[in-house]
Amino acid sequence: MTRMREFGTTVFAEMTRLAVETGSINLGQGFPDTDGPERMLERAVEAVRGGWNQYPPGPGLPELRRAVAEHRARWYGLEYDPETEVLVTVGATEAITAAILALCEPGDEVIVFEPYYDSYAAAIALAGAVRRPVTLRPDAGRFTFDPDELAAAAGPRTRAILVNSPHNPTGTVFTREELETIARICRDRDLIAITDEVYEHLTFDGVEHVPLATLPGMRERTVMISSAGKTFSVTGWKTGWVCAPAPLVGAVQTVKQFLTFTASAPWQLAVAYALREEMDWVAAQRAALEAKRDRLMAGLKSVGFEVFTPAGTYFIQTDIRPLGFADGHELALRLPELAGVVAIPTQVFYDDPSRGRHYLRFAFCKKDEVIDEAVRRLQRLA
Ligand code: PMP
Ligand code: GLN
Repeated sequence: MTRMREFGTTVFAEMTRLAVETGSINLGQGFPDTDGPERMLERAVEAVRGGWNQYPPGPGLPELRRAVAEHRARWYGLEYDPETEVLVTVGATEAITAAILALCEPGDEVIVFEPYYDSYAAAIALAGAVRRPVTLRPDAGRFTFDPDELAAAAGPRTRAILVNSPHNPTGTVFTREELETIARICRDRDLIAITDEVYEHLTFDGVEHVPLATLPGMRERTVMISSAGKTFSVTGWKTGWVCAPAPLVGAVQTVKQFLTFTASAPWQLAVAYALREEMDWVAAQRAALEAKRDRLMAGLKSVGFEVFTPAGTYFIQTDIRPLGFADGHELALRLPELAGVVAIPTQVFYDDPSRGRHYLRFAFCKKDEVIDEAVRRLQRLA
């Protein structure tokens, strides 16, 4: 296990356990406390009752692959052949890991924007590849990167770049200009882009998510990944997908078939239905989440946190220094006792934790009364 030596329990499991043990309000792990669209849930139950309980085909049920391809065409004008260019996975997590295992050789370098979602580092390590962080830093209230640092990170061993937008944990939604900078480097250095777009529909203030694959010269080199968990408030369904040119999807599928072979059938049918019929529900959910974001942001500001306005995702990134604290990890461990609330110390998403030492991430995908109670408790810090 030498390759995995630096990886223990994930911060999400650790913090959720802390919340349960201490009876705290869990604004740590990002999952909503309400269900997805009712008719989609019924579809899943009907699928189970209707006998969809044996192995589906390895690449996924044709119904879902078609629905994913139609969704990509309708929303983004991207055409994918459901037979050869769409693969269903066990959440985006499996898709990301399988893509890295399939496309990176030991010693290859993978650029990641830091702070990065924790599974990226583990997937890169499993492949024996090397991560190359490019740090996102606050600039005029939003986290972004320095194009020169990105260009400098791409060297002769660089094979791929992992791009997560909308970005967890900073809430940044990359602008077209930022994406163009990334695309230029991918084209110039012949890199594969692996995009994690699980929050594609959860953007606010009229900001629209632009898939990297829609930029010139990018469709052919992009492995586009998303999942149903966030879009339809079913994080426990673990149903995701990959869209890419056939040779890339084929490589990912070769790995996927020996990780899990296939993904659960009933959820696939229900998600296929939802991608076609429940996008109005998603629009309403996005508006509701925007209001929750504003509610929690106002609360955190009133407590004294410095707050960065997220343009997407479930999360608000805060700076704890105005409250007199210095270390987010220490504060996260003490927060249950100090305030009966759990949050995520963002420093665990950095190669060097000192770069994110003073940040704490709060999830706002919760009922209004839960947000209000959390803010009431956090006032004890003020
Ligand atoms: N990527 C990011 C950025 C995430 O926040 C998450 C957690 N939802 C995932 C991937 C994992 O997605 P899934 O649950 O579909 O595996
Ligand atoms: N994506 C979720 C988050 O960032 C957690 C997923 C997990 O528990 N691994 O909070």
